[in-house]
Amino acid sequence: TKWVYTFGDGKAEGKADMKNLLGGKGANLAEMSNLGLPVPPGFTITTEVCTYYYAHGETYPAELKGDVEKALSEVGRLAGKSFGDPANPLLVSVRSGARASMPGMMDTVLNLGLNDETVEAVAKLADRRFAYDSYRRFITMYSDVVLGVEHHHFEEILEHYKLQKGLTLDTDLGADDWAALVVEYKKKVQAELGKPFPQDPHEQLWGAIGAVFGSWMNARAITYRRLHTIPESWGTAVNVQSMVFGNMGETSATGVAFTRNPSTGEKALYGEFLVNAQGEDVVAGIRTPQDLTEKARKEAGSDKPSMETALPEAFKEFERISNALENHYRDMQDLEFTVEKGKLWMLQTRSGKRTAKAALRIAVELAREGLISEQEAVGRVDPAALDQLLHPAIDPKAERKVVATGLPASPGAAAGAIVFSADEAEAMKEKGLKVILVRVETSPEDIHGMHAAQGILTSRGGMTSHAAVVARGMGKPCVSGAGALRIDYKAQTLTVAGETFKKGDIITIDGGTGQVLKGEVPMLQPELSGEFATLMGWADKVRKLKVRANAETPADARMARSFGAEGIGLSRTEHMFFDAGRILAVREMILADDEAGRRSALAKLLPMQRDDFVELFEIMKGLPVTIRLLDPPLHEFLPHTAEETAEVAKSLGVDIERVERRYKELHEVNPMLGFRGCRIAIAFPEIAEMQARAIFEAAVIAAKKTGEMVVPEVMVPLIATKAEFDIVDKVIRDTAAAVEKETGATLTFQVGTMIELPRAALRAEEIARAAEFFSFGTNDLTQTCFGVSRDDAGTFLGPYVQKGILEVDPFVSIDVDGVGELVKIGVERGRKSRPDIKLGICGEHGGDPASVTFCHEVGLDYVSCSPFRVPIARLAAAQAAL
Ligand code: PEP
Ligand code: MG
Repeated sequence: TKWVYTFGDGKAEGKADMKNLLGGKGANLAEMSNLGLPVPPGFTITTEVCTYYYAHGETYPAELKGDVEKALSEVGRLAGKSFGDPANPLLVSVRSGARASMPGMMDTVLNLGLNDETVEAVAKLADRRFAYDSYRRFITMYSDVVLGVEHHHFEEILEHYKLQKGLTLDTDLGADDWAALVVEYKKKVQAELGKPFPQDPHEQLWGAIGAVFGSWMNARAITYRRLHTIPESWGTAVNVQSMVFGNMGETSATGVAFTRNPSTGEKALYGEFLVNAQGEDVVAGIRTPQDLTEKARKEAGSDKPSMETALPEAFKEFERISNALENHYRDMQDLEFTVEKGKLWMLQTRSGKRTAKAALRIAVELAREGLISEQEAVGRVDPAALDQLLHPAIDPKAERKVVATGLPASPGAAAGAIVFSADEAEAMKEKGLKVILVRVETSPEDIHGMHAAQGILTSRGGMTSHAAVVARGMGKPCVSGAGALRIDYKAQTLTVAGETFKKGDIITIDGGTGQVLKGEVPMLQPELSGEFATLMGWADKVRKLKVRANAETPADARMARSFGAEGIGLSRTEHMFFDAGRILAVREMILADDEAGRRSALAKLLPMQRDDFVELFEIMKGLPVTIRLLDPPLHEFLPHTAEETAEVAKSLGVDIERVERRYKELHEVNPMLGFRGCRIAIAFPEIAEMQARAIFEAAVIAAKKTGEMVVPEVMVPLIATKAEFDIVDKVIRDTAAAVEKETGATLTFQVGTMIELPRAALRAEEIARAAEFFSFGTNDLTQTCFGVSRDDAGTFLGPYVQKGILEVDPFVSIDVDGVGELVKIGVERGRKSRPDIKLGICGEHGGDPASVTFCHEVGLDYVSCSPFRVPIARLAAAQAAL
């Protein structure tokens, strides 16, 4: 087996498509070398070594030592140095690199190979201050990530030293100061560990390699893998690379960049750099970074020179390379670079993370630039991420009491109560409160709090800080680096411009502008035009599935249309019964003792329902509308208070005891499997009759009003047998005939059924003889297939997912193997007796991208989902068809 792959000097043993073996970073370093770009030479220890390591009691393959030695000497040859050589030492960086970038893993050790001897060589060859500054950085980093002696120990020593000497800035320290500190640092390590800081470069190297492999199994990495369903078996690679130095004076620098703006998608080099600094200084947010381009500098109103003016040659080279890399990978790239004494070196390239807004714009523009096809563009945007675009923004007309401004790190606006810790954010969220997580900066330990918060606000860190990157990934609004904020964790206060906010005070953040606003500011729904409309148009050209919405209120129906819904796939009529004006009549209907009592209540409801349907038909003019007969357990409508009971009794003209007795009769042990669905229509056909009448009368009225034909689809819920369907079907058809006779109109309509019980799926062939369409109700179908209550699942399904019993919550994403099998059976058997049967899905799964893919594969005609998810379903359906 080949365990080690080298790269550098215009060639490499690996390439971009070897991510599984070399990890993302290693594969792209190899690719850049192959492209002839300036990459410091190095080598990648493969992910297979990681797998071997854990399969063999944390030991390495026997050949590895020799392979690494050989690679090291090759790297030394290319760099003109030699590892451990006291006269001309090769220094290296060691970094982890999994297939997908993974926060929580050991990140980086720089300057490895320095010891008491080699530091003197570096001092002679370069500069003494630089040499000892590098050495103390190495001791700090190595001790922290490899030896477990935490960073703060060294910070304290440094602070103490500065205080003693009357120095304030790190730049005030000279060569002797750093040399003196190195002595102190080593003493600290000795004191903490009872053994000295390792001086042997080979021991250092193997220590760092071991730390990378060890970090694959640390708690944070395990959590991250679980959250992102990354298999443990993938393992990580280790990249060892010759050091280049961004901290060798004013012609040296280090930086990060995106080839396009990751927040807006604008085509412009975007990023930040620091002169005379090493990589971790940019990310750590200790010094405020400078802009890359003059344009960005002007826009930011910064007085610090841009890279374009400070290092013009290196900048030009960098601009050329970023264009080349974007063209080569045909996607926006996220780059890391270092300039050593004016010479540019590339340290990393990868596809850049971006907001949904940027993803859309970039995909559309790349297609327009001819770099990718329209279809590829459709495939480039994660449907689930569209959610971000559907977030509210601050109403431009609203008054803004701006208390501070930071960076617009992740778009969308959010309001909530201030909390200062991730745990607190989670606790408040559980109580149903909306919170804004306010931190100086965030780290991977804050992820759960970021999940729980509406938005994130930090006082430190740039557009590439942890808070910014993670918030964008989550689609949460984030304002980062609002430097005017004074956050006091102890006092639980936030002070800015003389004003103090306490925990629990409400603020609003605008991730689009970076503003922090006092109080809850009114918000607006986003506009769905521009690139959004363009990409959706391209998606609509490819997809086979139609997309409808689940909606019953006029507002939802309008929203659904504006999101591109092609009809209504489920109108839950029971939702129309909860309105204040009609709940009394509904209760009368339920609590009536006999048909006469029910009919008198139904007579009150009929005109209300008819008006509902007229409005729905008008809004959905020309599009199909599926209306489902009353479904939920009747107890949901029963009075909750004595007062309400009295009110119902009065209106029915009976005494309270009688109502209470009826109430008891209706009580059910297991309402979800009880008196609901078509069972109501069978016991009380007059209810179905009223609803059918309301639908057909409304169809006649709406057709007259709009001049368009209305073709209602009347749907019967919770069918288990054909006999049930036949009874309800007859009530509906008799009513239609009656309405035709009364109005003289000719009705066109369909009667179909939900398939939401396993028996219905199994008997689909028989049921389809009578039913003209099926709509798979996968909420109930999941509930009944698993025998898991959909309302109680939360308490025990979580651990199921954590323990790997289930990969995902089957109420969120369809269980293809079980519930999906029932759907497949329903489709096949239904088509047997009625080849042209219309087939759809209207459970929550209709808006879940993976489930939409499944629906496409089994050949449904449409999916129906909540209005906000219509665009997601449109895009997911297109991707399924690519
Ligand atoms: C279903 O069961 O999937 C469905 C759409 O109906 P409801 O959620 O109203 O039970
Ligand atoms: Mg249902």
